[in-house]
Amino acid sequence: MRLGAHISTAGGVSKAFARALEVTADCMQIFTRNQRQWVPKPLAEEEIGAFRSRHQETGLGPNMSHCSYLVNLATPDAELEKKSVDAMVDEVRRADALGLEYIVFRPGSTPDGVAVGVARVARRLDRIIEETGDGSTTTILLENTAGQGNTLGLHFAHLRDIIAAAHYPQRLGVCIDTCHAFAAGYDYTSPEGYDGVVSELLEAVTLDKVMAFHINDSKKELASRRDRHEGIGQGHIGLEPLAFWLNDERFADRPATLETPEAEARYKEELDLLRGLLK
Ligand SMILES: [Zn+2]
Repeated sequence: MRLGAHISTAGGVSKAFARALEVTADCMQIFTRNQRQWVPKPLAEEEIGAFRSRHQETGLGPNMSHCSYLVNLATPDAELEKKSVDAMVDEVRRADALGLEYIVFRPGSTPDGVAVGVARVARRLDRIIEETGDGSTTTILLENTAGQGNTLGLHFAHLRDIIAAAHYPQRLGVCIDTCHAFAAGYDYTSPEGYDGVVSELLEAVTLDKVMAFHINDSKKELASRRDRHEGIGQGHIGLEPLAFWLNDERFADRPATLETPEAEARYKEELDLLRGLLK
């Protein structure tokens, strides 16, 4: 895997590269916008140019953006639906402008049940992809979730069903978060457990669809269905189970970013720990 981290874009998106190099990341995830606002400032042409030239100079990548947490493509609420679709269209355009390979989003939640939620997410992804057009080069990745409340994505089968119901599966993939999978009840803490979890994953979505990872430990125990990231080696998962993912040759070359609580203050130490696990 290509090991990296979620990097701050304070001061402008192009500033992320220096921070990424500082913590020895090989790739990065960023927010291209303020996460708490529905209508963010457009990216300035100058910033786009600076980002693209820093990208070329550094060779970091593949890189991804994480969509706003406000987005909920499964919602029954018409206003939230419109805001969510518009925000995702905007995110795809930003990712294309910056040359980001992937955007990652969570499938969302609904009180109306999994089947209804899956169908809604698929239909809305169709609209987003149609609106952003054939020229778009970014791939939209569905992230598995811890399954808090009525959240879709705690079972790999939810991700499979959304991709199967979408009209443009070639524009979609998945991003696996190790904390969320553990919190959702996937026990990959033993070699046998890991083999079973990955078999289930690859039966649900094929290997070529598993395009990126988030590597995090978990503050909460197995099957807690609570989404609380913890620093590498400091939570209920521990180092050895993460090593199973990192050393799985099927996932070689996939970008894998940290999203751990201490962020830039501890990323370098955490990346050293993960690299120490590589065989
Ligand atoms: Zn994540």
